[in-house]
Amino acid sequence: MNQKLEQKVKETLSKIKLDKKSKILVALSGGKDSAVTVYLLHKFGYHLEAIHIDLKMGKYSKNCLDAVEKLCNNLGIKLNIYDIRKEMGNSMCNIRLSVQSEKSLKNCAICGVIKKWILNKEARKLRARYIATGHHLDDETQTFLLNILKGSPELNANSGVITKNIGDKKFIPRIKPLFYIPESEIKKYAITHKFPVIYEKCPCAIDSYRIQIREFMKKLSRKQKENLIKNSEKFLTKIKKEKKEIKYCEICGEPARNKVCKMCELLRK
Ligand code: AMP
Ligand code: ZN
Repeated sequence: MNQKLEQKVKETLSKIKLDKKSKILVALSGGKDSAVTVYLLHKFGYHLEAIHIDLKMGKYSKNCLDAVEKLCNNLGIKLNIYDIRKEMGNSMCNIRLSVQSEKSLKNCAICGVIKKWILNKEARKLRARYIATGHHLDDETQTFLLNILKGSPELNANSGVITKNIGDKKFIPRIKPLFYIPESEIKKYAITHKFPVIYEKCPCAIDSYRIQIREFMKKLSRKQKENLIKNSEKFLTKIKKEKKEIKYCEICGEPARNKVCKMCELLRK
């Protein structure tokens, strides 16, 4: 079972032809998915550093930080810590509240946009060639469905084992080594290896549309989820043909789809 998982991840990595010299920055949340990601990339001999965004959400964040510190210590991997309060002046809870008083957005949507913005910026600073996250088969099928139900199927163009805006040197490609692995298998793997991880869910993930989809998806078989991903990949090849113009945010200078990036759009009043 564990060997099968390892083999599948190896195949995924060979698909994206990563070389072992380029630095990969692994985004560690403190949870099982990113722990398995960093463990396997390390086991396979990639050149790694890790980053954890300390969201300063009380005890939960403290537990996450302890877990990633232990994990990186065990593996001998350099850990970079981004303290959101020091860097952005507030905890994620307060940032979110200030955004929500202006705009009606869900917790997870806000947090996701902010984390992506931070990871891209920090990866560039650390001269990483790639960012690796712990996204898995269940996450990816949820996102695929979510985008369709939101009426924005074109957003699925950002999906895939590797996400990149071709030709944009300010955008660091994100890779998802666990793209084809169901969450249940990752959990088993993390438990067997006794990784120091937090199994509790983020306390703020309460009102998310994604949670509704997750509940619905529990009824789907692995095969059905794999079929959804296959559709998503077919879709992706079509969308990628329409070359998009690369823009930089007028406010922060980060790569953006529009004049202002999603992050600055959120934070401006
Ligand atoms: P989530 O959206 O919380 O399911 O997280 C998806 C992936 O994003 C995780 O597997 C991590 O790779 C990354 N991630 C989430 N939270 C953090 C964090 N606080 N610091 C660094 N990376 C994170
Ligand atoms: Zn911006």
